[in-house]
Amino acid sequence: MNIFDVKPKFLAMFLFFSYSMSAFAFFFVFKNREAENFYYKNFKEEISNCSHDFKNAVAIYVENKLIGIVENESIVNDVLDNELAKYKKDTISVNFQEELKIVNGIYHISEILEKNELQEKLFKTTKLNLKENNIEHNLSNNDRILNVKYTIQKEKSISIPFKILENKIPDKPIGFKKIECIGKNGKELCIQEETYINDKLEKTTLLERKIIQEPIDKVILIGSQIQNKKLTWPLPFTKRITSKFGIRSGKFHKGIDIADANVINKKIVASHDGIIIFADVCRGYGNMVKIISNNKIKNYKKIVSLYAHCKKISVKNGQLVKAGQEIATVGCTGHSKGCHLHFELEIDGKNVDPINFI
Ligand SMILES: [Zn+2]
Repeated sequence: MNIFDVKPKFLAMFLFFSYSMSAFAFFFVFKNREAENFYYKNFKEEISNCSHDFKNAVAIYVENKLIGIVENESIVNDVLDNELAKYKKDTISVNFQEELKIVNGIYHISEILEKNELQEKLFKTTKLNLKENNIEHNLSNNDRILNVKYTIQKEKSISIPFKILENKIPDKPIGFKKIECIGKNGKELCIQEETYINDKLEKTTLLERKIIQEPIDKVILIGSQIQNKKLTWPLPFTKRITSKFGIRSGKFHKGIDIADANVINKKIVASHDGIIIFADVCRGYGNMVKIISNNKIKNYKKIVSLYAHCKKISVKNGQLVKAGQEIATVGCTGHSKGCHLHFELEIDGKNVDPINFI
């Protein structure tokens, strides 16, 4: 059958059908491509937007707690170095007290802090509210996140106070006081280590002590002799002592001299109860009386008293006398430059200063 034998009506229908199908197919493919392009474009934009929002940065952890995120490590180091530099002068060691960690990662730009913001977070002593893993951490007021611990060495000159020593002198009466040495403070150099947290002193450790100058103790002589003024003053007329017991013009004066104007002929009395063991002239002493105690007086076993340069002796050898009894009168016999009583005392065999006993 010849194609031209087909009726034009059917041919026309066939052509129209073919054209319609092609157009539909073309339209469908085109629409699909358009949709694909649309989604691809959006996705691309999305990706592009995402890559703008995230970037490499570093997170700072103190004691495993996230404190903040900054762009790079050198910002962290700058902030830390600036803080440490405030304390570095004259320090032996300076460091942060807390454990610090820096972690690299990709973070959202909204989380990234500026340098001054990080500085404020780490070192400002204000209340901070940190949110980590949906848990809120409240740091109390005046609590820095990072604290600077530093140590310095100091030399201190310290005065060493002198001691006061009281030396008891048995042959001086109670009440006797004499400063033998005034005393002087010593000096020592202390080398110590001081540890501070921020600016608060936490610990002091003494490293070395060097004594530059030893102190000189103050020495006070204190009389410890129990005074026993139980003996009677031998010259009632006067108590004026013209020459003391002790060294006098290079010689030892074994007693005291008692004298005053018009002392001549005034009565001399026995200083204690006893027996007259001498009542005569003695070379140098002139007219002299000596009495020995016959009873125990206080704690003393034996008291011997001597009265010299007398004018008139009114007792005899071996005579018993009572304390206060007249035994002689004042004169200037023997080696005497003027009328006076030379009075000596011997207690338990020892020549003593009579002033402590009468
Ligand atoms: Zn004398």
